[in-house]
Amino acid sequence: MSFVISNKCVGCHACMVVCPNQAVYPDADLANQFHIHPKRCDECSAHYDNPQCASICPVEEAILDSARNPLNPVGSLMPAILESQKLTQTFGSKYDG
Ligand code: SF4
Ligand code: SF4
Repeated sequence: MSFVISNKCVGCHACMVVCPNQAVYPDADLANQFHIHPKRCDECSAHYDNPQCASICPVEEAILDSARNPLNPVGSLMPAILESQKLTQTFGSKYDG
């Protein structure tokens, strides 16, 4: 089975870097759209307990399972975003000053 990248993708490259099967590739025409090669993706079953692309993707609904359900549904990444904002407010951005 293979996962799919939806048009919510913003082309950040993160999933391409972590994929153990080199299954992720950029769209030839759209700058901010990536895809998953269906014959290369094994849902990470041979290497990891969790799909690495979905674990690192920062965008909700960008990666879908074989039934086309989002692996990071709406609202699922919000706690991580809020925690990141809290840390930035506490310690400042590394780009400040
Ligand atoms: S589930 Fe694993 S093998 Fe499939 S695209 Fe994502 S990182 Fe690659
Ligand atoms: S990690 Fe998510 S947003 Fe980034 S390229 Fe992959 S699918 Fe697109």
